Amino acid sequence: MFDATEQAVLFNFFCVMSFIIGACLGSFYNVCIYRIPMKQSIVKPASHCFSCGTYLKWYDNIPILGWPMLGGRCRYCGTPYSSRYCLVELLSAVLYLIAFIVFGPTVLLLFIWLFLGLLIIGTFTDIDHFIIPNRINYGGLLIGLLGGALVGRDWPACRAMYNLMDDVHFLMGKFGDVEPWWVLPSWADGLLCAGIGAGFGWLLLWLVSVGGRLLFRKEAMGFGDVKLMAFLGAFLGVQGCLEVVGLASFLGAFVSVTMIALHRMIGRDKIVEAVLDPEKLPELCRTEANTSGGVVHVRIPLRTAGQLHYLPFGPYLAVAAIIIVLCYKQVEQLISWWLSIG
Ligand SMILES: [Zn+2]
Repeated sequence: MFDATEQAVLFNFFCVMSFIIGACLGSFYNVCIYRIPMKQSIVKPASHCFSCGTYLKWYDNIPILGWPMLGGRCRYCGTPYSSRYCLVELLSAVLYLIAFIVFGPTVLLLFIWLFLGLLIIGTFTDIDHFIIPNRINYGGLLIGLLGGALVGRDWPACRAMYNLMDDVHFLMGKFGDVEPWWVLPSWADGLLCAGIGAGFGWLLLWLVSVGGRLLFRKEAMGFGDVKLMAFLGAFLGVQGCLEVVGLASFLGAFVSVTMIALHRMIGRDKIVEAVLDPEKLPELCRTEANTSGGVVHVRIPLRTAGQLHYLPFGPYLAVAAIIIVLCYKQVEQLISWWLSIG
């Protein structure tokens, strides 16, 4: 239909469009991150300065470029805006572009874009408020099941299921193409695999959360993470759930160990001197204050490793899911290579 040059031009055009669509939707995701936890409408009112209330002109609201053009401040009252608005738009644009390069112009791409959008909103809401809104979890689950039915056997959960069966047959010593032992129309296959993936994801994290409570006698994981995993499972399937939980645990451990090491190396706690009235001090410091003429040392912890225990697990799951979905070809190669040497 098109010759090679036309194809290249078309490909570049779609790449640019994907980046722009990602940036514009990123701007919308910022609104969602800010308003959904406050139970506000995400469509009304239009974007306005949260400090002086002035509605933004369209040219102040251009994704990615708006923030640096205004020097990170409101044009009317000068209130500084967080650079995160700009970064979320840039992140969304880059992820949308990569998704287009991986999946091409397909129906599946539209669902992957929705998937990325929901995860961007969920992650930043989790970081800000320690909750992943139900609108994200249940919405994502429904979109995952719908996508399974519409995309059929190319749905990631379904591909994962067939790969898993291939691997099982491979390990049992059978080679070559494997016929499924049931024959379903493509849409039913997609829907079934999405449903099994969601159920498996839910069960997997429910077990981890119950197990963690029994082992460590504290809340290892919120119930929001369990619901998030059902949503991820509907997209990624059984195998994808295992990959996501494995990668997320690795990322979590890696970040914790790195932060603890950095804290040991450079992050000494700050100790300040203060002159205080010994009578107003608690019993514990009164002796020190009395012997030194009211001078006490107050220890101010800087970025302690302890703070990391309060980092939610949701963002790690989301980052792992994004990596797994965008690098599925590399992951498949890695697993078949591992099986071939094992
Ligand atoms: Zn303002």
